[in-house]
Amino acid sequence: AHDDTIRWDKGACRFCGTGCGVLVGTKQGRIVATQGDPDAPVNKGLNCIKGYFLSKIMYGKDRLTKPLLRKTKGVYDKEGQFEEVSWDEAFDVMADKWKEAIKKKGPTSVGMFGSGQWTIWEGYAASKFMKGGMRSNNIDPNARHCMASAVGAFMRAFGIDEPMGCYDDLEHADVFVLWGANMAEMHPILWSRLTDTRLTREGCEVHVMSTFEHRSFELADNGMVFTPQTDLAIANYIANYIIQNKAYNQDFIDKHVNFNATTTDIGYGLRPEHPLQKAAKNPDKGKFDKVTFDEYAAMVAEYTLEKTSEMSGVPAEQLERLAKAYADPNKKVTSFWTMGFNQHTRGVWVNGLVYNIHLLMGKISEPGNSPFSLTGQPSACGTAREVGTFAHRLPADLVVMNEKHRDFAEKVWELPKGTIPEKPGYHAVLQNRMLKDGKLNAYWVQCNNNMQAAANMNEETYPGYRNPENFITVSDPYPTVTAMAADLILPTAMWMEKEGAYGNAERRTQFWRQQVDAPGEAKSDMWQVIEFSKRFKVEEVWPADLIALKPELSGKTLYEVLFRNGHTDKFPLQEITDNAGNVYNNSESKDFGFYVQKGIFEEYREFQWNGPKKGHEMAPFEAYHNARGLRWPVLDGQETLWRFREGYDKHVKSGEGINFYGKPDGRAAIIFAPFEPAAESPDKEFDLWLSTGRVLEHWHSGSMTRRVPELYRAYPDAKIYMHPEDAKERKLKRGQEVKIQTRRGEVTSRVETRGRNKPPRGLVFMPWFDAGQLVNKLTLDATDPLSKETDYKKCACRVVRA
Ligand code: SF4
Repeated sequence: AHDDTIRWDKGACRFCGTGCGVLVGTKQGRIVATQGDPDAPVNKGLNCIKGYFLSKIMYGKDRLTKPLLRKTKGVYDKEGQFEEVSWDEAFDVMADKWKEAIKKKGPTSVGMFGSGQWTIWEGYAASKFMKGGMRSNNIDPNARHCMASAVGAFMRAFGIDEPMGCYDDLEHADVFVLWGANMAEMHPILWSRLTDTRLTREGCEVHVMSTFEHRSFELADNGMVFTPQTDLAIANYIANYIIQNKAYNQDFIDKHVNFNATTTDIGYGLRPEHPLQKAAKNPDKGKFDKVTFDEYAAMVAEYTLEKTSEMSGVPAEQLERLAKAYADPNKKVTSFWTMGFNQHTRGVWVNGLVYNIHLLMGKISEPGNSPFSLTGQPSACGTAREVGTFAHRLPADLVVMNEKHRDFAEKVWELPKGTIPEKPGYHAVLQNRMLKDGKLNAYWVQCNNNMQAAANMNEETYPGYRNPENFITVSDPYPTVTAMAADLILPTAMWMEKEGAYGNAERRTQFWRQQVDAPGEAKSDMWQVIEFSKRFKVEEVWPADLIALKPELSGKTLYEVLFRNGHTDKFPLQEITDNAGNVYNNSESKDFGFYVQKGIFEEYREFQWNGPKKGHEMAPFEAYHNARGLRWPVLDGQETLWRFREGYDKHVKSGEGINFYGKPDGRAAIIFAPFEPAAESPDKEFDLWLSTGRVLEHWHSGSMTRRVPELYRAYPDAKIYMHPEDAKERKLKRGQEVKIQTRRGEVTSRVETRGRNKPPRGLVFMPWFDAGQLVNKLTLDATDPLSKETDYKKCACRVVRA
């Protein structure tokens, strides 16, 4: 029923990278409802089931409201029980541990792990605190497990990150190709737009590829189940088909493309002593050399239809149908991919192989012709990639390895030259290894459930958290598996309990206003970082010779140096009012006495507008409070829908046509990469492939969605999907309890031989949302050696009766 006492305001969904707009209904200081925002261009009033129940994620019975520290007899003790403490006590103990680590082992002994669920300013503040304050690049987001491979491929092929296209491609393409993406469950709103186009556009066709059949196959005109890892061969076959049939766009190639080839056998990102890593010929090298078109053509020629069909297990006529769709000059093709491609020991390569196909055809940077990498998290783009929370990055596509980039960041941050270390910090997987080895000793996890999410958690993650040398802090709204493994838990404000901004997969930056107060003493991640920075005098973390370069900083706290400097503190506190005249709370700003979000955002804009790399420009802060998001670059007040093409992108001058301006010569790179086997494959002892992933009803580790009764009931516990013949062969019945075993551990689950996922013989699929069935005890911590992204899609397991 209509209720006039509910105040409605715009917001952005805090789950997947689709970035749907929601209307948020507040009554008497509580969010009571959410609905799809009819004015939101992404979703036009629709939400998926997670979006509809968004308001309930904030009201789980076990919300944390006070800091909790492990204590025995009133003092901190790693083996003690959690006791409630004040923020002051929590930060004092934590700061002592950080100072002790820095004193003993230097800045590389402290680290932070965040995620694409940080708001834009939370990620920016954390990155600035670590890189510019602590002088440690040991900060990484769990986006490392999500789309680091996509970033690597964008940078190699185009010299600039993020898709050139946008969601409008969904209404313009004639052909959609899904490479390792189950959009029906993981990006349901985009899937509904794609379905509309498929059902209404004459001749539109959908090709779906995966290592098992899932819900997206229901719409497929050409559904293909391939043997894990052979997507590398399939992509090369398509390039070969285009060349053999002379279908390539010669004019486009001549003007806009360079050809290259990458070195082979570059290891699996495992520990150096791991036998699989030792066997690699060129571990950790991924350089590529320039080649000619003819040399490139000779390399892909190996991937014939017959050979590729045999390798992949996909019938030849289906592969050929796919190749023809790409090669048809009259068909506009949009390729989508996500975790199937990115969580791959050759994730950068396989992303790049799809760019190769689009570049050979010139099918890029125009409506309907798009190679499009989707993201998992609400702000994987906005926070992890754009503000530079990766261990090697700085804001706006800058990197710590480049002296000019460091100089620029230090100038904007008003820090002495040499403050930011030049060596990349520990990435996500390395952080866990370094914790276990006692080299990373003071560690802070915010807005993610790393213990449940990290691969090989039995051997590599849990031991590091409980290593007596280490002090682990976890900020979370709920007592997750990760929080319960920590020494200190900080209660965190979530979503509408703070002002925020996210950046979605189509480069759209979306703001929301704080609607309600957080429960008890819970505080936002950004408040926590800024408040913690008050505990450090520069003398306690910086060497004297660095301070001598800017003597005016001596005696100051990191708070004064980083968050009360010229950029951030020049925006006086102001109330935020919406178009209806409603006045909004901004609790963090009130605490600090200035409009901290605005200060941080405007400082970040310095990187975009005046930095060494163009193409990331955003509008002023206020513009986003009125808009339903804007896609960067925003130039002359206009957002950009398709990048690199004249007429759509204002960075491309009249007469240029196409300019891949991320590259110094304006040309994109086609990079040949060969097929290489997975790190671990089934054998006699462990005879099945294990692939892991998500389900529609639950967000990541389920720490929020499993607390929503409706979502919990819809999909209560994880199960293992198996081919009926594989189950029969093992004398297993549907619903029976089984043990899934790998070389790293064992987990108990129940067999499912029907339903939404239908694996082929020889493969099982298990979702990871269930804290009662920690499937990441089983997975291998192999990564792409270039992107350092984990491969959760392939390892060897066996399934036996429990
Ligand atoms: Fe949209 Fe994703 Fe949220 Fe569902 S989870 S409402 S698809 S943003």
